[in-house]
Amino acid sequence: MRYKIDYEKRIKELLEQENKQYTYYIETMGCALNENDSMKYAGILEKMGFTKANEIEKANVVLFNTCCIRENAEDKLFGRVGYLKTRKKQNKDMYIAIVGCMTEQGHILDKIRKSYSYVDVVLGTKSMQFFAEKLYLAIKNHKKTQEVQDNEHEIVEDVPIRYEEGYKASISIIYGCNNFCSYCIVPYVRGRERSRLPEDILNDVKTVASKGYKEITLLGQNVNSYGNDFKDNKYTFVDLLTEIEKVEGIEVIRFISPHPKDFTDALIDKIASSDKIAKQIHLPLQSGSTRILESMNRKYTKEHFLTLVEKMKERIPNVSFSTDIIVGFPGETEEDFLDTMDVVEKVKFSLVYMFCYSIRKGTRAERMENQIEESVKVERLQRLKALFEKLVLEDNEKKIGTVHKILVEGLSKNNDKMYTGRTIDNKIVVFEAEEKDIGTVKNVEIVENNKWYLTGKIV
Ligand code: SF4
Repeated sequence: MRYKIDYEKRIKELLEQENKQYTYYIETMGCALNENDSMKYAGILEKMGFTKANEIEKANVVLFNTCCIRENAEDKLFGRVGYLKTRKKQNKDMYIAIVGCMTEQGHILDKIRKSYSYVDVVLGTKSMQFFAEKLYLAIKNHKKTQEVQDNEHEIVEDVPIRYEEGYKASISIIYGCNNFCSYCIVPYVRGRERSRLPEDILNDVKTVASKGYKEITLLGQNVNSYGNDFKDNKYTFVDLLTEIEKVEGIEVIRFISPHPKDFTDALIDKIASSDKIAKQIHLPLQSGSTRILESMNRKYTKEHFLTLVEKMKERIPNVSFSTDIIVGFPGETEEDFLDTMDVVEKVKFSLVYMFCYSIRKGTRAERMENQIEESVKVERLQRLKALFEKLVLEDNEKKIGTVHKILVEGLSKNNDKMYTGRTIDNKIVVFEAEEKDIGTVKNVEIVENNKWYLTGKIV
């Protein structure tokens, strides 16, 4: 369905009649998909005439875009909502909204209804199109909405979106997930896979390119399942990449996250032959033990993962990999953990997002009996971290003296005389440049290894 700007206009008129100027503040928890949704909520709010507030205390509408994957997310959310209770009592023009995947969990909705009844709007992951209407009802009639509707098969297009300033934009290409990894709640809260139509995605890509964005990241829980839900099943993720590559102005294309089990030879060849698709691939490993992978329902083995990586290293010059790893999954023995260390050693990931396993309510892994002691998980995490740091230093050393095409992204956060960018394998590089260079691509030689970033010079 196409998004209709309707209640946004009504809110704008309502506020104009009352001579009110409203601000909004969005707090985003979780992944890149949630960040992308938050940009859409910001776009919707700006259509209402709201402006962005820099502090939560100064906003008329505070929107929490929640995530149920990260640990302690519930405590964090309710701490923040509780903090606003007194302010809301003092300010009758303040409204609180909670959206995102946490609201799809029954116990969270019950808790909001029971203990946080002052929250004005609660919506699930598939109800963004109703946000303006529900906010309108809250502002005009003080009517609260605390419900989660199931609009499983709806994809809403043309949602206004507020891109952050800069040269990078993200675009969702597929929603939901069919994989049911045993530790993950996403398929339950985000529903089954739904691919956006290629023409809608391409329109978005052309729009961001026309606004001067040079790099796009295609988003989905499982991007390489893209198109599997189309009836004729003929249009694939590779076809989509091929069309996006042709869009003038886009210089770098990234995607997160692909699933190792769905990584086809055609996709490998596409990456290899493209001079726009980044040669840095995020390939979530989760565990290096085939036994644990089976228990996680990942549908690949240690050997499959390593063979896939080897194939990519052979065919894609300068490819590098980042990954996600969970240590201390239920039943993980020392031997299983050593398998994970072995894969890390062999692949030499450029970046590893590593976590201790923690229980997610409603998942199969929650009911597994052989949970691992916290102290064991932490000790394994430290060993993994130490191995990874050693490998990063070794890899950085090899880059000294090499020259890379780098998009100048902006000033360095830590040094206002230096600028930053990333190598095609996603390493941060800082180098001297000028403001006018921002948004251009430079050849940068790596001159120094600082572990988490490299120093370079424009050549
Ligand atoms: S692929 Fe697995 S981990 Fe990723 S969203 Fe789907 S169920 Fe969760």
